[in-house]
Amino acid sequence: MNTKMLRAEEAAEAAALLRRGEIVGMPTETVYGLGGDAGNADAVRAIFAAKGRPADNPLIVHIADLRDWAPLVTEIPPLAKALARRFWPGPLTMILPRTDKVPEITAGGLDTVGVRFPAHPVAQEMIRLAGVPIAAPSGNRSGSPSPTTAAHMLADMDGRIPAIVDGGSCLCGVESTVISFDNGSTVRVLRPGFVTPEQLQTVAPNVIVDEAVLAQLTPGTVVRSPGMKYKHYAPKAEVMIVEGDTRHFIAYLLRKQAEGVYALVFDSDMEACDKAGILAVPYGDTDEQCAAEFFARLRELDDRGAKAIYVRAPRTDGVGLAVYNRLIRAAGFRVLHAG
Ligand code: AMP
Ligand code: MG
Repeated sequence: MNTKMLRAEEAAEAAALLRRGEIVGMPTETVYGLGGDAGNADAVRAIFAAKGRPADNPLIVHIADLRDWAPLVTEIPPLAKALARRFWPGPLTMILPRTDKVPEITAGGLDTVGVRFPAHPVAQEMIRLAGVPIAAPSGNRSGSPSPTTAAHMLADMDGRIPAIVDGGSCLCGVESTVISFDNGSTVRVLRPGFVTPEQLQTVAPNVIVDEAVLAQLTPGTVVRSPGMKYKHYAPKAEVMIVEGDTRHFIAYLLRKQAEGVYALVFDSDMEACDKAGILAVPYGDTDEQCAAEFFARLRELDDRGAKAIYVRAPRTDGVGLAVYNRLIRAAGFRVLHAG
């Protein structure tokens, strides 16, 4: 199968494929998604197969009209409605008990479903023209960095899917914030994203960040978000987080110098890295820039033949939490201390 690259203006062609039960690459404001009719078990099976995704890792269902939410879930609590008013369309996924409109395979065998109303105009157009809710996980092969450009998605999916719609680079660069509800007033962040815990707090009386967001689950722990238990987002190179300031980071890296050793650093670290003769790639200065660039830089470093990538990690508040969450999984939870 040849994978066809479609322009944003050709989104209708992709929507026609979706209506026929085919699966296609879809730009969203978070990352590129691999979309298929959420109610069509064959389409969903094809998504799992193309990604090589474990069957117990549920797919997020995307809508482009608020009215399409109610049929998917047994009930929409007032807090969820309030969050939708504030954050939809946008990078927030809300998990609620599902109805049988959502096949078990789409939900990864769970009795809940995560629903999101994306803000990207091309994603919205594709969903509306398809006329059905669209299940779409990130468009990478399972375990790899998520694609933030159509070219990244093609690199993973060439020959596996009929088409990818090119909508340019993704604005957020990290996947949506995933939340569930502990009760009528408490929101639990299962996966951090561009909608931050601080922002959720402006609507929800209580916001809890699930312990699995930053910590490795110990065997036997109840997994609330199946995706969190897998090694994830990882390039071929070994990734390591190095804690410490720029000076200590550089001193540490100088001791690690060998072929294929790279540093992934903040823009403001570049001058010092250059002076020290350390091969470094910048991923921004603000949390938002780091989020937008993170996956792209990991792919770039793989292309350059990196064997080891030492990373200066952002702080764990705001959007920084979303970057740290991806980074610590890419690093297999290896955090080194530079002084
Ligand atoms: P991706 O499809 O690559 O964006 O990953 C979706 C993430 O959302 C995974 O980490 C899933 O485990 C999580 N997720 C989706 N649906 C649910 C659900 N019903 N319950 C818990 N986590 C979910
Ligand atoms: Mg993913």
